[in-house]
Amino acid sequence: MGVYSTINPATGETLATFEEISDAELQQMLARSADAYRSWRGTGLAERKAILTRVAEIHRARAEDLASLLTLEMGKPIAQARGEVDLSAAIYQYYADHVEEFMADEQLEISGPGTAVVRTEPIGPLVGVMPWNFPYYQVARFAAPNIALGNTVIIKHARNCPQSALAIEKVLTEAGLPEGVYQNAFISSQQVADAIADDRVQGVSLTGSEKAGAAVAEVAGRNLKKCVLELGGSDPVIVLQDADLDAAAQAAAGNRLFNAGQACTASKRFLAHSSIYDAFVEKLVAHMSAFEPADPTSADARMGPLSSAGAAKEIDELVGAAVAGGAQVLLEGGKVDGEGAYYRPTLLGGVTPEMNLYREEVFGPAGVVYRFETIDEAIEVANDSPYGLAASVFTEDMEQAQYVAEALETGMVWINGTSKSSPDLPFGGVKKSGFGRELSHFGFNEFANKKLVRNP
Ligand code: NDP
Repeated sequence: MGVYSTINPATGETLATFEEISDAELQQMLARSADAYRSWRGTGLAERKAILTRVAEIHRARAEDLASLLTLEMGKPIAQARGEVDLSAAIYQYYADHVEEFMADEQLEISGPGTAVVRTEPIGPLVGVMPWNFPYYQVARFAAPNIALGNTVIIKHARNCPQSALAIEKVLTEAGLPEGVYQNAFISSQQVADAIADDRVQGVSLTGSEKAGAAVAEVAGRNLKKCVLELGGSDPVIVLQDADLDAAAQAAAGNRLFNAGQACTASKRFLAHSSIYDAFVEKLVAHMSAFEPADPTSADARMGPLSSAGAAKEIDELVGAAVAGGAQVLLEGGKVDGEGAYYRPTLLGGVTPEMNLYREEVFGPAGVVYRFETIDEAIEVANDSPYGLAASVFTEDMEQAQYVAEALETGMVWINGTSKSSPDLPFGGVKKSGFGRELSHFGFNEFANKKLVRNP
């Protein structure tokens, strides 16, 4: 059987190991989830609201301990880890505050006699497959709306953040959630497939790589289960000639290097008009250089190590192959010698479609700059990606901003800013970035039964 391990990426040291559960234990977990669903779906909204509010309160009360675990397990700078705990608390609170509104019946205007009402009801036990890059926030996006709705969840977290996974389960249990409503499962990919195929389970949500998404969607499809996928991105930042270059460069660097570049909505490709290309690159290099890799436990660290030595090696290979193929190094970064998965910010130009770096998601602190002459050319390059998650456009001309926003094949567009998650904003993509939405009322409705009750 495989294991889940805490390996401090700042030192490479293995600190804790947890065994996967057996198939028999998974069966017990599925049974508990189904049992809990039968009573949880009938629990009053006031009680659900109170529990979700307590979940938010416990996050805030234990912010320091929860944040430290993130820093330990995946190398997130402590200040950013505190931010993640805070955002997660806000998501639980948001669904506590809005559950009545989101569950309210909708009266339809109909042509015939009588009434037609659409009710919002839960559908049953769900499986959530989660990544390591935002261990609490990713769970909150899935668990908070579904618990509010009346579904029950089984969470399979990434195998490199087991203590964070257990910590969230503890928070939810201590907040008063009945047994079986939220369960953490240390399981294998095969057991995930078995759980999805189980008749008691009604849906699955995954955040992670394209490969994992395709594997889970295949099993979901075969078993006719609803599936939400939030996969990778290669988000473009388009800088038009009239843009505030300082603001654009600062935002682009910040969003590229936040969480050491390990975010699906990190800005990864920078497209600058040729008239301002050199000035923009100069500013971008200056802002990126300010993110020196540092011990993630130190209060002023802006960038820690990558999540693992393997992740640092992968980026290094991708960047190395592009440079060998003729890419231009605009900011020389690369792996830091010694212990820990540290990687310096890197910026490349002259990347061509023949290089893997052109199409692949760069999940670390390396960015690519492109030069364009016309807006349509920028849009073409921006859309020439398998992914379609978020995008940014910087300009003072709102007409042009709207034109670009409309033409981009992405699930989210930011004008004069870069992507930032908030409980009230829908989050998700198109193309190989996945399907479905999380957060806001859109996320609430993904695993809801919109039941028509017609009374003629
Ligand atoms: P994965 O997609 O492999 O992992 C994410 C989650 O999916 C983990 O819980 C993982 O479990 C699980 N998983 C993987 N394969 C399967 C499967 N066949 N069936 C069921 N569950 C599965 O991400 P990695 O950590 O390997 O990162 C690789 C790349 O994925 C990154 O470089 C990045 O490009 C992308 N990624 C994107 C994220 C995003 O936010 N969109 C988040 C994380 C990664 P286990 O840990 O047991 O393998």
